[in-house]
Amino acid sequence: MNRARRTLLAGTALAPLAGCARTQPPAYGGGWVGAKVERGHLLRERKAGGWPAPALQRRAGAIVVGGGISGLAAARALTRAGIDDVHVFELEDEAGGNSRGHAIAGMRCPLGAHYLPVPGEHAVEVIELLEALGLRRSERGVVVYDELTLCHSPQERLHIGGFWHDGLLPPIDALPAAERAETLAQYRRFGSAVMAASAGEAFAIPTARARWSPVLATLDAQTFAAWLDAQQLNAPALRWYLDYCCRDDYGSGARQVSAWAGLHYFASRHGFHAPGDAADERDPVLTWPEGNAWLARRLAEPLRERLHTGGVVWRVGEGRDEVVVDLWNARAQRSERWSAPQVVLALPLFVVARLLAAPPAALTQAAALMPHAPWLVGNLHLSDALAEHPGAPLSWDNVVYEPGRQSRIDTSPTLGYVDAMHQSTRSIPGPTVLTSYWALGGDSPAQRARLLGEPWSAWAGAIVQDLARVHPDLPAKLKQVDLMRYGHAMSVPVPGLRGSAALRALAEDRPRVQFAHGDLSAYSVFEEALYQGTRAGAAAARRLGASRRR
Ligand SMILES: Cc1cc2nc3c(=O)[nH]c(=O)nc-3n(C[C@H](O)[C@H](O)[C@H](O)COP(=O)(O)OP(=O)(O)OC[C@H]3O[C@@H](n4cnc5c(N)ncnc54)[C@H](O)[C@@H]3O)c2cc1C
Repeated sequence: MNRARRTLLAGTALAPLAGCARTQPPAYGGGWVGAKVERGHLLRERKAGGWPAPALQRRAGAIVVGGGISGLAAARALTRAGIDDVHVFELEDEAGGNSRGHAIAGMRCPLGAHYLPVPGEHAVEVIELLEALGLRRSERGVVVYDELTLCHSPQERLHIGGFWHDGLLPPIDALPAAERAETLAQYRRFGSAVMAASAGEAFAIPTARARWSPVLATLDAQTFAAWLDAQQLNAPALRWYLDYCCRDDYGSGARQVSAWAGLHYFASRHGFHAPGDAADERDPVLTWPEGNAWLARRLAEPLRERLHTGGVVWRVGEGRDEVVVDLWNARAQRSERWSAPQVVLALPLFVVARLLAAPPAALTQAAALMPHAPWLVGNLHLSDALAEHPGAPLSWDNVVYEPGRQSRIDTSPTLGYVDAMHQSTRSIPGPTVLTSYWALGGDSPAQRARLLGEPWSAWAGAIVQDLARVHPDLPAKLKQVDLMRYGHAMSVPVPGLRGSAALRALAEDRPRVQFAHGDLSAYSVFEEALYQGTRAGAAAARRLGASRRR
């Protein structure tokens, strides 16, 4: 794991972000990990003529640019279709993109994506992959998942006023007495609205398999917050929870994402269930200590030397029969020129728009519509288990309820933390790694500048201060804070994006350059990235097969 900086903090200074005057010198180490920000910025800073002449020229059967889930899925689809010599170029030192992992003191932990819900019937690519990896099988007609991978109980808990409650939806009896009756009524009304919206396969994962309609287009044209206001769904507990869900899946809150996205979160999966409903609010989920990096590494494994990490692609030129890919090999410190009859671009769309010599109009339009939320992920190594408030025990996902926080998300956008040792089978709690997630969408450009501008010590201090509010003994047990920052982590499904004709056009089969990446689904989750990559890889393979037959 690359480590841009490793520091043992000493002294009292902490940056304005943390906002606290420390009396004790903090005694934890850590640093930035995972992302070589300067490599991505090379694309912006160096003009086309600023790169050295290629020291190597090679031809490949097919090329995939981007080694995230979508790129790895595209390479898998090409290989499974019998295409030899598929090469994948990835800018970072490890494949996986937003689904990479880390380890501290021998304990595996995520750097980004950390779970995959058990797939619904439309997610056929996910079902196929899980079966191939031995995580899903049929036993006498009943679908069974690997028990070690299904998230163990207790799955989630919510901290309210000094007490931990089971589940993440604020329970009615934990709310102020004056709010209870109205909140319950609004929970039920929202549940009914989700059920009504779900009819007729309007929502599915992947979204490409849902049935688009004028009703969905109307939802897509407004923010989720505006839609909730119009329905008079304004109970603080409901609004806090819905905002939390949006920030968790989309990196931005209800005031930024569309009403389509807000409803999709529930309608495409488990629905929304008011307390007392027979159905459970929770999806069974698959998870690993290192998060979805477990899946990314299995997808990357078969590529071996055909996976080129440290490969910064800076230009893609489409010729009559060949596509030329120019890249900077950061490991060998040299320029390379590769070519292939088919290329899959499994990259965020704003990057693709920079690489293509002649970007199609649909690409320019879609990239302009699509903001990307920055994220911060902190892995905190603790020497011992934390003391606990009464109520639900330490769970896989642990969140603090603070009504009114949505109005403060720009200053304190924490989503809670995940326990990396949750899936271990140890019976006595002990040293662990807690992974804290901060979604910094909202005012993304300002947050991005802050994320890249403030030092590690300031962000580490802010995370520690945030967690110490419910775990006052955390600073004393803290040994290390490793931080991963994502300037442009995921596309935010803002109004107009999901229904945009430009986005749809980019997912079509193209002559030589296919577009993949989760961005094409308007929002980013494993299922969408796997679908987009598999679709694009299969399209490239079909084109190659057809040209070979000619
Ligand atoms: C903090 C965080 C938590 C998340 N949690 C979850 C979760 O729990 N479950 C879930 O399903 N999803 C989660 N997601 C969503 C996640 O984005 C998707 O699951 C999935 O990993 C996206 O894959 P992708 O291939 O579409 O994109 P990316 O991961 O963005 O992959 C694109 C790849 O292209 C590479 N690249 C970029 N530019 C270049 C270049 N010029 N040359 C070469 N390579 C380049 C990048 O380095 C990257 O590896 C999370 C995302 C984040 C940021």
